[in-house]
Amino acid sequence: MLGAISTRTLLEPKSLADALKMLRDEGPLMPMAGCTDLYVSLNFGALKETRFLDLWRLGGLRKIALRGDLLSIGALATYTNVIQSAIVRLPMLVAAAREVGGVQIQNRGTIGGNVANASPAGDTLPVLSAADAVVVLQSAQGVRRVPFNEFYTGYRASVRRTDELITALEIAPIHGRQWFRKVGTRAAQAISKVVVAGVVQPGATRIALGSVAPTVVRARRTEAALAGGASIETAQQTLRDEIAPIDDIRSTAEYRRRVASNLLARMLVPRL
Ligand SMILES: Cc1cc2nc3c(=O)[nH]c(=O)nc-3n(C[C@H](O)[C@H](O)[C@H](O)COP(=O)(O)OP(=O)(O)OC[C@H]3O[C@@H](n4cnc5c(N)ncnc54)[C@H](O)[C@@H]3O)c2cc1C
Repeated sequence: MLGAISTRTLLEPKSLADALKMLRDEGPLMPMAGCTDLYVSLNFGALKETRFLDLWRLGGLRKIALRGDLLSIGALATYTNVIQSAIVRLPMLVAAAREVGGVQIQNRGTIGGNVANASPAGDTLPVLSAADAVVVLQSAQGVRRVPFNEFYTGYRASVRRTDELITALEIAPIHGRQWFRKVGTRAAQAISKVVVAGVVQPGATRIALGSVAPTVVRARRTEAALAGGASIETAQQTLRDEIAPIDDIRSTAEYRRRVASNLLARMLVPRL
């Protein structure tokens, strides 16, 4: 059932400083970015929050910049901003952005929203995990940086405090061949059944998966097996043992295990 709007309050900060003050003094407030996740919850009547903080006009948070060789992507950067950026030289991130929803969602949905929403099926999350990205969190007290791979604490749970906003994602240069693949029901407007991103580099391959556990996961045991010289078949078996997919409306655990293992082989040997 559609959630009622009339009972809700919207705060519209003019600057990031304003927004952080409002979070501190007038909270709890739920941040709103592109609203592509929020409006789904609202329509389902599942949005319990009543007080919202609209970030959409904070243009500074949409900036994509290079600081030295560190890439900083503002949390409000949309998928379209990422795809069109001349300085995002991260093929796996651009590939992920191109597969999110359809063009309308790409124009509205933000990378910060994808991270904050904390769905295990979020398509940019395996990319950020494989990239060893850093989440920049800001509150009225200051800035802190959390390694992306330490950001989630469980299903839809993270270390972000309610007085903090995600302001950016930072990514150091990546060496090695990048790879991304999403498997869903259709090519567009589909939530992932399995999503994999990786960086293939002799001795230091990184593998991250979504939709196979309560949070996005790095396949550390599989990475270690490959670093130790394991064959592809052994690495595939390690991966099947390492992930913990579930049966749900989108797929079965068995299908997800098999697909993840097949995708690993494709990632390692692209001609397969
Ligand atoms: C039709 C459709 C198709 C979709 N397809 C895909 C898909 O293929 N792949 C995929 O991964 N997702 C998909 N999504 C989900 C959604 O588009 C993405 O997760 C998107 O990135 C969310 O960003 P947003 O700016 O719209 O977030 P919002 O809906 O505004 O917010 C989502 C959550 O993040 C919080 N939040 C937002 N920004 C911040 C911030 N800066 N700091 C702290 N908290 C914040 C909000 O409080 C809320 O809890 C789809 C959604 C729809 C409706």
